[in-house]
Formats: sequence, structure tokens, C-alpha cells
Amino acid sequence: MRLNRALFNWLMGISLVCLLSSCVGDDKAQLYRTTRLMMGTFVEITVAGNGPKVKEAAQAVIAELARVEKLTSFHQSSALGAINDKAGVAPVSPGEELLKLVNTSLDTARKTSGAFDPTVGPLSRLWNFSGGDPTLPDRQDVQRATAKVGWKRVALDAETGTIFLPHEGMSLDLGAIAKGYALDRAKEVLTKYGVSSALINAGGDVLGMGLKQPGKPWRVGIQDPRNPRDIVAVVDLTDRVIVTSGDYERFFTKDGKRYHHILDPRTGYPARGVQSVTIVAPDGVTADALATAVFVLGPGQGLEIIESTPGVEGFFIDSSGEVRVSSGGTEIFETRGR
Ligand code: AMP
Ligand code: MG
Repeated sequence: MRLNRALFNWLMGISLVCLLSSCVGDDKAQLYRTTRLMMGTFVEITVAGNGPKVKEAAQAVIAELARVEKLTSFHQSSALGAINDKAGVAPVSPGEELLKLVNTSLDTARKTSGAFDPTVGPLSRLWNFSGGDPTLPDRQDVQRATAKVGWKRVALDAETGTIFLPHEGMSLDLGAIAKGYALDRAKEVLTKYGVSSALINAGGDVLGMGLKQPGKPWRVGIQDPRNPRDIVAVVDLTDRVIVTSGDYERFFTKDGKRYHHILDPRTGYPARGVQSVTIVAPDGVTADALATAVFVLGPGQGLEIIESTPGVEGFFIDSSGEVRVSSGGTEIFETRGR
């Protein structure tokens, strides 16, 4: 089930990215492509050029993504898991890199009034959208898990380099920011290898570096949340990251109601009011964290945050299917007829 969903997302991602990065008739660009199943999805790396150096760079990206996964995974054994294992027991020294990422997550929580909350772990585990078979939990269980969520309780001590979750059962889940971080790391690796033109698609979260070929940017599509094979808008992705949070990515329906994986930390239930949010930002961490946060906040408050964040634009599809775009976004998101 998990693999099927991942495979589906991947195929959708590939088809969209291919279509939109003009994998079509007149395309003479030399592209090296490789794909891996990692970070709970399929990752496709496309580097312009060919030859051993290009392949080496792509392999180095894969190694770096695997390293980030080992650091941040919620489900597999990881450095993050070591912090969670010690909840209510003792502080943990997770190393500078993870400390910094948790700190950024807490900053995002602060800026978004807790709509983005990295301590959502107990709810993630209860709803189990990343596992095989998510079902509607009992209301009491949702309340119990919600009581264990709260970013303000995380004790991060920058001086001693430790993180302490003060209550048993608390846990950090960086699922809403880790892929964005991985894309930022991938960019750094590619730059080190002298690569200036590449596209990395991590399950629909995409980094575009440089141009695909002279005069031709990488182009990426935004899926229609209710018909994911259709595209509602297209974006030129030159030296930017695009991330979408959608209610169609991981979900089930019960009694005609859709339950999906983006949770409102205040209620413990899936956030309502939005079908999808797409953020374009200069970096992956900003794009990923903000997409989740403004999904929870909805277009009203969400657009305010986007407007006040430099270099960031957003594209909302609300629960009635209406599109709302940030003021600078009209130039970036080329809408297609719906
Ligand atoms: P994304 O697809 O980037 O929006 O991230 C969704 C994932 O982040 C979920 O699968 C959970 O693991 C986690 N998550 C869900 N709701 C939240 C939230 N409100 N704040 C932070 N992380 C969340
Ligand atoms: Mg996110």
C-alpha cells in the first residue's frame, strides 16, 4: 500500500516533470537520470550533461539524501528517533546538524502560531498515514495524543547542544520539513561537483538548478488535487524549490469524508479548508515548512505569512476548488484552464 502510493506519486511526478521540463520532440539536451526509492517516496535526479562526472555527482546526491534520511526519519532508526526514545527520560545530544534543523522547525512553529508543529509525532503515529493501513482513530485517543503535542515544551539548549522532550510519549516528527532540507543538501552537493544544471524531484517536491539548456528553463506542473493527472498551473523553476502540501497525497475516506496526513495540531484532526498549497521559495526548508504551515492556516492567514516572507510565493486551491495566489505569484504560476 505504501509502496503503491509512493509509486503512484512518483509516476505522477515523473510524468509531470518530464512533460513540463519539455521531454518532448525538439529536446536535444543531454540528460543523465537516475531514480531511487528513499525518504518514503521515489526520488528522481536529472543532471544536465553526461559522462562519469555527472554520474558521480548524482551518486553523491543519493548518498547525501540517504544520510539525511538516517538523521531525520520518524519511522526508521535515526538520530531523531534517539531523541524521541529518551522523551521524559533525559536530554540527548543529536549533533549540530539535527539541532539546527529542530531549531529551524521550532522557529517556524513560532512564526506560524503552532500551525506547523514538529512535536506532532504522537498524532502522526496514531493516524498512521505513513504506515500500511490508516483508519479513523477514537476521539479519546486523538485527544490523548493531542495533549502530548506542543512545540513550546521542547527544551533545546544551544549551549550544551542538547534536546529534551520533557514528557513521556512526546515525539518529534520532521516529515513536514525533511524533504525540503534534503533538497537543500542535494543542491550543495551538486554545486561542489561543479553541476549548475539539474532537477531533483523528491515525490513532487522539486529543486531546479540553472536552466535545462540555454534559453529553456526547467518546468514543473502543479497537480489538480481532485484529478491528479491534470495540471492546474506550470512554473519555471530556475534556482528555486517548489513544494506542494495536498490532501490527496496520503488519505482515506470514511462516510464520505476525506481524512489526510496534514494535521491541525490544535484539534488533532486533518486540517480543513484547503485541498492543496504550493510554495515556491529560494530554498527547500522554507518551501516545505511553509507549505505545511499555510495548509493548516488556510488562505486567509496563510497568504499573510507568504506575503511577509521575502522571495516566497504561494498558490492555494481551497476546499471549494477556488484558486488563490499571492500577489507576486501571478507572474510565477501560469494557470491552466480548469
Ligand atoms: P508535508 O507533506 O510536507 O505537508 O508534511 C506532512 C507530514 O508532516 C505528515 O506526514 C506528518 O508526518 C507531518 N505533519 C503533519 N501535520 C503537521 C503539522 N501541522 N506540522 C508539522 N508537521 C506535520
Ligand atoms: Mg512540508
